[in-house]
Amino acid sequence: MNPIATATKDAQAVDKASIKPQIPLTEREQEILALYKGATPADWEDWRWQIRNRIRTKDEIARILTLTPKEIKGIEGSGTKLTMSIPPYFASLIDDHDTRCPIRLQSVPQSDELKTAPEEMRDPCGEDKNSPVHGLVHRYPDRVLFLVNEMCAMYCRYCTRSRMVGDGNRTLSTATYEKAFDYIRSNKKIRDVLISGGDPLTMGDNMLEFIIKNVKAIPHVEFVRIGTRIPVTLPQRITPELIAMLKKYSPIWMSIHFNHANEITERVKKACNMIADAGIPMGSQTVLLKGVNDTPATMKKLMHELLKIRVRPYYIYQCDPIMGSKHFRTSVAVGMNIMEHLRGHTTGYAVPTYVIDAPGGGGKVPASPSYIISQEKGKTVLRNYANEKYTYYDP
Ligand SMILES: *Cc1c(COP(=O)(O)O)cnc(C)c1O
Ligand code: SF4
Repeated sequence: MNPIATATKDAQAVDKASIKPQIPLTEREQEILALYKGATPADWEDWRWQIRNRIRTKDEIARILTLTPKEIKGIEGSGTKLTMSIPPYFASLIDDHDTRCPIRLQSVPQSDELKTAPEEMRDPCGEDKNSPVHGLVHRYPDRVLFLVNEMCAMYCRYCTRSRMVGDGNRTLSTATYEKAFDYIRSNKKIRDVLISGGDPLTMGDNMLEFIIKNVKAIPHVEFVRIGTRIPVTLPQRITPELIAMLKKYSPIWMSIHFNHANEITERVKKACNMIADAGIPMGSQTVLLKGVNDTPATMKKLMHELLKIRVRPYYIYQCDPIMGSKHFRTSVAVGMNIMEHLRGHTTGYAVPTYVIDAPGGGGKVPASPSYIISQEKGKTVLRNYANEKYTYYDP
């Protein structure tokens, strides 16, 4: 069950000429497309073309960006760790004139990622030790994380699962999936299955449907969730066919990894519109990253843009201490300050929960500023977002 093989096979079945570009290409998209000999705007619209032509080497990326010495070293060193992989579409969002461009920092390796700080770990969230069968992480009593593959469209340089994601052909076998289904079947407390990876949406529709169908067929599973970054890095993957398939398995929720307002393009808006119109509620998961989204203004802008495309901000994650992540990690105080500037200053719908995945496997722990100044003898002294004091007396 090789996702690339499946993708290629499906591609042959589709008449390329029948895919019409629905969103005009930006100037930058046209410039990049022109580098691929014989490629057409219809190819740009085709997610399989985007996957096949992901930017993986220094020479390829050098065609579209003037690389810094740090990036050259990072790209050369990343091959042995987490490979570089950027769909041409996502690469078109990089500002070539800005070496601190948030899209660039997330996708182009830098030499800093080759260093390891003392607090860093291979598996900081302790997922491997909470794995009863291959592919499942069972940490909380009523829900389970199902890592169905190891491939993503773009490899985020700070990826929590960088120990396992990577390119190519590594996918779970059907026998492994069957063991995971058996485990869920025999654990009646599991009411919610979070299908993630890798990125499950890099799989073809048929493979994905096989997984969702089997999970949904388990009587005590009340709903499934899909954890993905594809609507951001490869929005072309959100096709009418995919949506029609997902709709059959309602209720399905989707958690989408968004980190910056610049990621929300016309294509992404269209993809999220299709998902929302299909009755699939979307939440966002954002990783707090130094230089990318570590100011209250940047984060607030992202949250507002998400609400406009019907995505409800769900979590902001403190960046996990994976190996080579020091240049991305901020102090916890930075995250708390962002939360302080969201709550009350804007609608509660724009306020996600800021969590730290406790290193060593403690799970998500909320870290929020306290609005309770004191609490004694039935008297609670509060402060509001503007730092004014109020008292509530218990009955
Ligand atoms: C994040 C996570 C979940 C889901 O947690 P929610 O708070 O329900 O979104 C489940 N299992 C594991 C191991 C997780 O890391
Ligand atoms: S999409 Fe998710 S799993 Fe894939 S590289 Fe990015 S953070 Fe890691």
